Amino acid sequence: MPGIRPGMTTERLGMTATIIDGKTIAAQLRGRIAGEVARLTSAHNVTPSIAVVLVGADPASEVYVRTKSKAVAEAGMRAVDRKLPATTSEAELLALVAELNKDPSVHGILVQLPLPPQIDSHRIISAIDPAKDVDGFHPLNVGRLASGLPALVPCTPLGCVMLAKTVRPSLAGLEAVVIGRSNIVGKPVAQLLLAENATVTLTHSKTRDLPGVCRRADILVAAIGRPEMVRGDWIKPGAVVIDVGINRVAGEGGKARIVGDVAFTEALAVAGAITPVPGGVGPMTIACLLLNTVRAACALNHLPPPAV
Ligand code: NDP
Repeated sequence: MPGIRPGMTTERLGMTATIIDGKTIAAQLRGRIAGEVARLTSAHNVTPSIAVVLVGADPASEVYVRTKSKAVAEAGMRAVDRKLPATTSEAELLALVAELNKDPSVHGILVQLPLPPQIDSHRIISAIDPAKDVDGFHPLNVGRLASGLPALVPCTPLGCVMLAKTVRPSLAGLEAVVIGRSNIVGKPVAQLLLAENATVTLTHSKTRDLPGVCRRADILVAAIGRPEMVRGDWIKPGAVVIDVGINRVAGEGGKARIVGDVAFTEALAVAGAITPVPGGVGPMTIACLLLNTVRAACALNHLPPPAV
């Protein structure tokens, strides 16, 4: 949108929302992580390392994996990229996971999803050592999060809560509404908001009067996968809106552009703060993956958690 930059308060323009600049916040977090990585390497001879496993040649997954590997290297961490052909069997992938579980120089294991149809992703995720499960998808980590115990938690939800806390440092007592109940985003973000003492409502495609439920929210997290579904009049004035959606739509001249699950321009006029798409939640996901890897490296080496 012309004239609006991330981080800028929009009151001047007759709007109210502050844009939560995920790109800058993620860069700052990556900087702090790089500092911890340098300290761990020099003081303890531990260089956090992550194994990223990619099966097949899905173009979107290849881009994600490249971006992740670049961020890992920039933070001074070690990336072990393992590329397997699309014909890989479940037994072969399980064997690789077992090898990475045993390797003491590997602290985090990420198997890029989706996997080809011959492989059961639940079996693969359950085979990863929970202590190296930097995606936070292993049933043990899911259960620990639900039980309020320390856990490796999924990266995108962690990033959402961190972004919300940049504008509302305490979420205690606030009404939080999450749209979407996936295992990757909706459910874990609801658990994290609950752990922050918010009063959480988790909604989905069968929820009655979704706009009315959303209008109660002091914190609204949209993780739906439907372009600009959340309209301005769904938003409580002054609410913090975290838009997780990444939707590719046809833009001017037929050129594809990315939009979120929230009608951004409408939301700007009502919300107190909002994450843009792109440049909001997306960059935080990768920063949180690095954070989880450093946390895993510390725990596996019986060191205190990183100070970031
Ligand atoms: P899923 O498709 O797994 O889940 C979508 C959820 O939205 C479901 O719970 C579904 O409900 C709900 N939903 C769908 N339609 C409606 C509707 N009309 N009204 C209310 N609820 C609805 O998606 P993900 O959670 O994996 O991803 C959500 C979005 O976030 C996507 O755009 C994805 O690309 C993006 N994403 C972004 C990431 C990032 O790093 N920024 C990371 C991961 C995802 P039901 O369960 O009833 O079907």
